[in-house]
Amino acid sequence: MLFIAGETLQIYFLGTAGALPTPQRNPPCFLIRRGSDTLLFDCGEGAQQQMMRVRTGFTIDAVFITHWHADHFLGIFGLMQTLSFMGRDEPLTIYGPEWVDEFVAAVSHLSRNHLRFPLVARKLRHGDQVRFEGYHVRAFRTVHGIASLGYILAEDDRPGRFHRERAIELGVPPGPLFGRLQRGEEVHIAAGGEERIIRPGDVLGAPRPGRKIVYTGDTRPGCEGWKGWGCRADLLLHDATFDDDELDRAREVYHSTAGEAGSVAEELGAATLALVHISSRYTTTANHIENAKEHFRGDVIAPDDLTLLELPYRG
Ligand SMILES: [Zn+2]
Ligand SMILES: [Zn+2]
Repeated sequence: MLFIAGETLQIYFLGTAGALPTPQRNPPCFLIRRGSDTLLFDCGEGAQQQMMRVRTGFTIDAVFITHWHADHFLGIFGLMQTLSFMGRDEPLTIYGPEWVDEFVAAVSHLSRNHLRFPLVARKLRHGDQVRFEGYHVRAFRTVHGIASLGYILAEDDRPGRFHRERAIELGVPPGPLFGRLQRGEEVHIAAGGEERIIRPGDVLGAPRPGRKIVYTGDTRPGCEGWKGWGCRADLLLHDATFDDDELDRAREVYHSTAGEAGSVAEELGAATLALVHISSRYTTTANHIENAKEHFRGDVIAPDDLTLLELPYRG
């Protein structure tokens, strides 16, 4: 089914550090707001304070955790307590790879079962999709030495361009019927004393792809079996823990260098590459950006914490 275009798609970089935070960078956490939905991808320590700093509010619809290294989940404990204090009673689902059940049970247990809302665990495997209205989130396996997932948020196709002149030519009067055709509904009109059906295909161009954000979590490059799902991403958030001088170290600890992130972005045909999970050893990301640009023709950014990026429709 096609949905009418026009939803906002924003991403807040709440935590861009690697395993160790720095005074400038918090552990991983990315908040994506699509229309009125708010999804959290990873929830490193201090996530809730970062949310306060950029005033995202605390209405969260789902949490996706990439893996069970503490830099990616320690913020859950404080955040759940805050949601409870604020009177949340709606269930909240935490999605993640295996051990998500044990994790959610532990959070409930350590909160002494005082959370006022049901916390639900849902384990995802490679290829699993979680459906939301107008888009889905799909999990893919990454290479990080333990069970770990990346996530792809992909919007449904948008209707093609509306050919107004063609509609008028076919006898559709300008007005509400135009809107119905644009939403993919067929309409009935009276033309020359008989009823005529006008179908969306008569007045719309080919469907246009929706927007797509890919977040790899922690990984070596070259994970298999997902690039078709991630191709032509508007934004790729890729592990770039190290610059290219530390390739050996990256291999050893199952992370990526900025140059490797650039190669993946190029292979996917991404529009923008955001280098994240920056190791605490770096005080500047100038090398990272330069390394990535050697392999990738699109835009490369290494966002500071609290950066807000809005993704417009392309074409
Ligand atoms: Zn990490
Ligand atoms: Zn990790």
